[in-house]
Amino acid sequence: MKKISVAIDGPAGAGKSSVAKLAAKRVGYLYIDTGAMYRAITWQMLRKKTDIQDEGAVRRLLDTTDVVLETGNADRVFVNAADVTDAIREPEVTGQVSAVAALAAVRQKLVQLQQQMAAAGGVILDGRDIGTVVLPQAELKVFLTASIASRARRRWLEMKERGRKTTTLADMERDIAVRDRMDSEREISPLREAEDAVHVDNSDMTLEETADVICRLIAEREV
Ligand code: C5P
Repeated sequence: MKKISVAIDGPAGAGKSSVAKLAAKRVGYLYIDTGAMYRAITWQMLRKKTDIQDEGAVRRLLDTTDVVLETGNADRVFVNAADVTDAIREPEVTGQVSAVAALAAVRQKLVQLQQQMAAAGGVILDGRDIGTVVLPQAELKVFLTASIASRARRRWLEMKERGRKTTTLADMERDIAVRDRMDSEREISPLREAEDAVHVDNSDMTLEETADVICRLIAEREV
């Protein structure tokens, strides 16, 4: 059996991370959350008060920032050895991440890192540009999407579960629409469906059902 590389792309709130994590566990693959890497750099920029318009300052920050994903039971994210797993999900980071992810220097560093991490195969990466830029040779590409209403509702419930009540459902829908627009309209590596991607709309599917679809698609390609 051949272990393949899997790219899952799609807009915010489509459930990419949860689905990818679950599918990876079932098939024994490594899961790589590329959004967490963009969030980690954003967290560091906010902490260091880096001006994102200042190319030199951005480069200096990138040269001195190590992002490490510890995968396994409790997927954790580290920036220069500090555990930022929870901090990168805070609204301040979410509000800035699309602007940071549009910077060429940031993408160059993280794409290279992602390609190194994926080199051995047997991996599922989720993000916005995995099938188009990071792993254009991936044996399986999935474009996972859902209606904006379902995506906003999922993110809103997720926030509520974490004990946050700061946003209304309508605000969440607006924030997601803004992030979708920024991610789709940026110049470098915009969110785009790869021509050879399998399109999956999971508006009316559960997390388990979506993971079933992904696992079936993987099994078909592993032979
Ligand atoms: O997936 P998540 O919502 O955590 O991603 C956060 C942000 O990181 C996205 O809105 C997008 O701006 C950026 N991103 C990206 N390319 C990726 C993954 C995420 O530009 N491969």
